[in-house]
Amino acid sequence: MELSICHLYPEVLNLYGDRGNIQCIKRRLEWRGISSSVTELKIGEQADFTRFDLYFIGGGQDFEQEVLLDDLHTGKDREIRAAINDGRTFLCICGGYQMMGTYYETGEGVRCDYLGAVDLYTVGGKTRMIDNYCFRLGQESGGSTVVGFENHSGRTYLGKGVKPLGTVLKGCGNNGEDGTEGVRFKNVYGTYSHGPVLPKNPALCDEIIRSALARKYGAAILEPLPDRFEKQAHDLVYERIMSGTMSTD
Ligand code: GLN
Repeated sequence: MELSICHLYPEVLNLYGDRGNIQCIKRRLEWRGISSSVTELKIGEQADFTRFDLYFIGGGQDFEQEVLLDDLHTGKDREIRAAINDGRTFLCICGGYQMMGTYYETGEGVRCDYLGAVDLYTVGGKTRMIDNYCFRLGQESGGSTVVGFENHSGRTYLGKGVKPLGTVLKGCGNNGEDGTEGVRFKNVYGTYSHGPVLPKNPALCDEIIRSALARKYGAAILEPLPDRFEKQAHDLVYERIMSGTMSTD
């Protein structure tokens, strides 16, 4: 078995080392004897989008999100929508997650028309939502808890019939109002959780890997890994966030 991974816009969307998620996916595949390759697709570059099984898009600041708009609308938008409708897996973080929606209106009133691949939109607010946070994945994504770090001014609202990735246990998530976090649409996993979220949330990483393998090879059963340190990291951070003893200093 083999997975082809495409890292979209690595040169502009990589806040907090979001790319660590790709390393985590690769390593967990390797530990199971499954090979993978990573192709970086930058502004101005084209590729055959039917070649990839798993796409990764990181987060960025408003400026970077605006910078790539022209490139996105040179045809990549159409190809991304087709890949999503074809059931290919996408992990999208923060700004990359906002890109999946119809638009993002910044706090300054600049409107960025995005992909419209998922029925959601984002509006910039006056205050930022910054902190460590925690959410529980929906049953269709495995139901486990996820610990992460969010930093966004955008408030994301999901259309009717679109499911969130999970439910906020502590923190703000999509908008700080409705208790939703991220989105799960087909095999698109969108989240506000920055930095390498996957190493300390191995259940989420395996869920993402499983969806890509299942699409390519039919049902995918992943061999369990020991995950001693991963679980320790998750549990320690979970306890601290939930008890309010995790400092951002
Ligand atoms: N620019 C977006 C916001 O602030 C995304 C931020 C990010 O990716 N960290 O809402």
